[in-house]
Amino acid sequence: MQTQEQTPSKSNYDAVIVGGGSAGVAAAIACAREGLDTLLIVRGSELGGNISQCLVHSISGLYLISGDVVPHPANGGFALEFTERLLKTEAAMGPVRMNRVDVLVQEPQLFSLQCTRLCGKEKNLTVVFNSTLRSVTSDGAVIESLEIDTQPEPIRAAVFVDASSDAKLSFLAGADYEEADPAELHRAAYIFSIGNVNLDDVDDDSRFILSQKIVAGIRDGSLDPQLAAAVIRPTGLADESSWTIDLESEGDHYSPLNPECLTRLQILSCQLAAQLEAYLRASVEGFEKCLITASHGQSTARESRRVSGRYCLTENDILDGVEFEDAVCRSAWPIELRESVRGPKSKSPKKSKPCDIPLRALISKDFDNLLMAGRCISASQQAQGALRVIGTSLAVGQAAGLAAVAIKRSSLGTIPLGEEAVVAAPIHEKILSNIDR
Ligand SMILES: Cc1cc2nc3c(=O)[nH]c(=O)nc-3n(C[C@H](O)[C@H](O)[C@H](O)COP(=O)(O)OP(=O)(O)OC[C@H]3O[C@@H](n4cnc5c(N)ncnc54)[C@H](O)[C@@H]3O)c2cc1C
Repeated sequence: MQTQEQTPSKSNYDAVIVGGGSAGVAAAIACAREGLDTLLIVRGSELGGNISQCLVHSISGLYLISGDVVPHPANGGFALEFTERLLKTEAAMGPVRMNRVDVLVQEPQLFSLQCTRLCGKEKNLTVVFNSTLRSVTSDGAVIESLEIDTQPEPIRAAVFVDASSDAKLSFLAGADYEEADPAELHRAAYIFSIGNVNLDDVDDDSRFILSQKIVAGIRDGSLDPQLAAAVIRPTGLADESSWTIDLESEGDHYSPLNPECLTRLQILSCQLAAQLEAYLRASVEGFEKCLITASHGQSTARESRRVSGRYCLTENDILDGVEFEDAVCRSAWPIELRESVRGPKSKSPKKSKPCDIPLRALISKDFDNLLMAGRCISASQQAQGALRVIGTSLAVGQAAGLAAVAIKRSSLGTIPLGEEAVVAAPIHEKILSNIDR
């Protein structure tokens, strides 16, 4: 990897990936390993996206939903390789069973470190940090180039992958997208860690007791009602716990893409966290000396734009565990809906069957050389409630990277309509090959 704080040294690549989260990292590594001269554009100074920026502590979607004692990976390929790496380096622990699903509990900074180390091994990959996508040019059917704020020259490529979670690349190109009405969007949330806690275990019992204490605090006026759905999770460290506060909607004024709205939510988040810290210290056994130990002070949106692809995954696809001829990987997480702060509404797939993710959901319907990876793939809002999790984003990212390779190698510079199934088969095999099906 060539890492550049500021300017990439050249302006022509085979593939450009925007967004250094789980999907972008997986896509970039997949492209580079197949020999594509690849550029990964990262807005901040760390890889890991939402995980390192917002302290998401658990990885969902890695395992099939089942009651089996030993969880089975939902996808092989990069998702499995990265999981094994996290476990081996003690960046994560688990799998941990939560009702009928299994998650890995990970340390966000170590997740980011492992992303950097893996990218560092790829000689065909250039990573440019602290760079924000500014503009995109196209001829109406093909994206030609993009500009970032740290380089004066436009950057050209044969194929582009939008892994920016907000679909910024697709938006700037003028691609069609969907976005839910403000009042129906999944609530933004704020994650922080509270340390110096004397708690034996963050298990279901301790979670229940804490939520009862919080309800009592709301009733006697010590706590803001928005803290009703504050959730505690283990962090992997003995004396630390991670907290998530879902933030009350601003009704029609909520916009995950509006900086003023995000600023208001960020200030509110910090105030709520401080209130909770003071209350826990004063009222809850084991928390007498607790302190907020980690916070990026940033509230985070769970959803924004979803790009329109050549197929839009639906709620029924997820719940029925639909199989597709052009499947590239699988989704194995329940639909989680969070339009209110009263906690998630969950809908599990029938018979716990995973749903295939078709290649068509990763290709923009408007641009032949534009692929989507991670949160912004083509899906209804309900379906995205299942697809957006990190485990699935890793697999989708790899699939988008391998599809980029297919586009680059195709003499047409695209995947011709109707050919998706033929192109998808090797991608699917590559991602699923090393798991026991
Ligand atoms: C509060 C909260 C809790 C969550 N909890 C869990 C959980 O417990 N388990 C789980 O598996 N998932 C969880 N998720 C979901 C998960 O974190 C994300 O959906 C997942 O990280 C999506 O990965 P991604 O790569 O698509 O996007 P991201 O990780 O968001 O990465 C996208 C990257 O693109 C960058 N970017 C955006 N615009 C630009 C631009 N213009 N130029 C350059 N870069 C840009 C962003 O800075 C970011 O780094 C949670 C999400 C939230 C918000």
